[in-house]
Amino acid sequence: MLLEVRDLQVEFRTRDGVVKAVNGVSYGVDAGETLAVLGESGSGKSVTAQAVMGILDMPPGRITGGEILFQGRDLLKLREDERRRLRGAEMAMIFQDALSSLNPVLTVGDQLGEMFVVHRGMSRKDARAKAVELMDRVRIPAAKERVKQYPHQFSGGMRQRIMIAMALALEPALIIADEPTTALDVTVQAQVMDLLAELRREYRMGLVLITHDLGVVADVADRIAVMYAGRIVESAPVHDIYKAPAHPYTKGLLESIPRLDHKGRELYAIKGLPPNLMNIPRGCAFHPRCPLAQDLCRTDVPPLYEVTGTDTTRHSACHFWRECLHG
Ligand code: SF4
Ligand code: MG
Repeated sequence: MLLEVRDLQVEFRTRDGVVKAVNGVSYGVDAGETLAVLGESGSGKSVTAQAVMGILDMPPGRITGGEILFQGRDLLKLREDERRRLRGAEMAMIFQDALSSLNPVLTVGDQLGEMFVVHRGMSRKDARAKAVELMDRVRIPAAKERVKQYPHQFSGGMRQRIMIAMALALEPALIIADEPTTALDVTVQAQVMDLLAELRREYRMGLVLITHDLGVVADVADRIAVMYAGRIVESAPVHDIYKAPAHPYTKGLLESIPRLDHKGRELYAIKGLPPNLMNIPRGCAFHPRCPLAQDLCRTDVPPLYEVTGTDTTRHSACHFWRECLHG
């Protein structure tokens, strides 16, 4: 396993109390595999990723338990300079907002080239040539000329391609993309997602794709891990999830995707709001919103049950996963 997160726990101490952002998350991704981590904002998906990258705001963020194994090494035991060396070279992250992640006063060529100067000791001239090559790789037209331009001179979609180029520069083993297409319009979203999927295959990287939108992951992900209130509530191969979800929350998410064949029909939306992470409901955190909730759900936290009777490996943190799966 390239990356393995085991029972991770993260808290934020605020003036009003302790925010339990991540409450025992485990997931893994292999080389050449794409894991989609799905959830509403505040589900803990970004915080988990920041803990993996070692860029969690500390304090107030604090890892209170668990392990993060990358290529077999526990990242939480490494020194900060060792973590820094891994970032960029072995693991890279792509964020939603390219404009605030790129430096506005440097040309994209200089920013891309910087990676090769700093990490590979290349001359400015060679680094510039590498930058053009990378811009070609992510299919930015007229790379030779555009390498001299500044981030604001690119469209949102092109800027996101530049972010992907930066992440790819040193050919890391793992890329974490946090809502990489959320700020883009739908057609551009699909193009950027396709590009990411293609490059992942070509470079045989592991990809963790974080999104709130189940609609964007169908074609690119191998597995999905669904998060709710800082926990994984369901994990399964992508096709199984689409065919028959084994958790009522996943089912609700699926039913709220707009579909062409359901034109005119009212979209289902999960009722209620995600919980306050300072005061997570007892028992199953989803019970106040769950159409299948029973007494047991209000008292007992569901463990991550193995979903049996399928040929693939699946898990669901629902006491009544059978009813959900067959219902
Ligand atoms: Fe719903 Fe109960 Fe399952 Fe939670 S454990 S998802 S409340 S049925
Ligand atoms: Mg987020």
